[in-house]
Amino acid sequence: MNILVINCGSSSVKFQIIKTDLELIEKNQDKRIASGYLERIGSQALITLQVEGQPKIKQAIPLRDHRSALDFILRWIISPESKLNGINSLADIHAVGHRVVHGAEKFTMSTLINDEVIEGIEDCIELAPLHNPANLKGINAARELLGPGVPQVAVFDTAFHSTMPETSYLYAIPYQLYRRHKIRKYGFHGTSHRYIAYRYRQLANIEREKVNIITLHLGNGCSACAIKNGDSFDTSMGLTPLEGLVMGTRGGDMDPAIIEFLHHKEGMTMNEIYAILNKQSGLLGLSGLTNDMRDLLAEEKEHEDRRARLAVDIFCGRARKYIGAYLAGMQGADAIVFAGGIGENSSEIRKRICKGLEFFGLELDEKANNKIVAGKEGLITKPESKLKAYVIPTNEELLIARDTVRCVKNVPRRW
Ligand code: AMP
Repeated sequence: MNILVINCGSSSVKFQIIKTDLELIEKNQDKRIASGYLERIGSQALITLQVEGQPKIKQAIPLRDHRSALDFILRWIISPESKLNGINSLADIHAVGHRVVHGAEKFTMSTLINDEVIEGIEDCIELAPLHNPANLKGINAARELLGPGVPQVAVFDTAFHSTMPETSYLYAIPYQLYRRHKIRKYGFHGTSHRYIAYRYRQLANIEREKVNIITLHLGNGCSACAIKNGDSFDTSMGLTPLEGLVMGTRGGDMDPAIIEFLHHKEGMTMNEIYAILNKQSGLLGLSGLTNDMRDLLAEEKEHEDRRARLAVDIFCGRARKYIGAYLAGMQGADAIVFAGGIGENSSEIRKRICKGLEFFGLELDEKANNKIVAGKEGLITKPESKLKAYVIPTNEELLIARDTVRCVKNVPRRW
């Protein structure tokens, strides 16, 4: 089957076409055949398109909204110009998988989209006001452009974490607030943590129920997940993605009293404070330079920039703190696994996070760590290391495509 995978942001659309079906999944032979990224939708959009194995095509054209963006994508996919093998008309797109950020307690698995599911996703908007509306725009546009004959599936970022026990997901605030408003930890990046766990299981050649690992998705957004007996047991993001690790522009954990304090001291409104916490904190806020880890590492090395070093040290320290907390919470783990733009590409950050974990029996193999470059996976600890560390490039899109096939064929599964 040719599955179109769509990930809509507020002014962007990422897409991939993945060839997969139940047999290909079983053999691990499903693959991406094309991908693209459309940004600055709403004005002169910047478009990057790529057929697998060929150079990227870049162009800029005005795109009014998500519907026009999707229309553009569909036209390109079926055009002779893209030359996609076996895709000549819209009928050759067999199903669409959508990334949906928040599924709250309602959606604990990927699901075929119908009117009722759309209403459910709408109900979750108050929990993800920046993300779910964009996801819905993509869903509505795809339904309209492809018609009712093409099944659409929603894959939720929160779903993987639905197995967390109450002891992990409840905040220690009055219980009625959970009852009344469902204020609790939901967690995000679930599709990524789930993919990493799935690949780890293959690498370690063990059953799903034997997977006891801590996954670290370190990109511009960052989260950690304690996976115990194959299920998400705890995760660092909370009601929203603001909680937890230090990220590119989000600070993660902090005293909530800071919000009130800022309001009084700086006369800021809630919106202004949340803009600071979401967009001007984290690596950017600490360094005063950038949210880009590559640039921070270069500043630190070339100019011995104190604030760049501080930002990186706090980033690594927070990640280590979570690893320690999860090792205690899940009573030990077999491995920690790095993923995301930083986790997959930076041997330096992996080394700095691992430094200090010797206490838990982690012995880094520096050579192996330095050898892992972009897109590669592998073990980075010594064979005798009690706590192992791996790098596993994440692939959320592949999992969305696979879930789409499984939902269409009516054989859904957790992972
Ligand atoms: P993502 O959101 O997963 O695309 O990750 C983006 C982050 O990965 C940015 O902070 C990048 O600076 C970082 N990144 C990408 N390549 C490298 C690298 N070689 N070394 C350090 N950080 C990197």
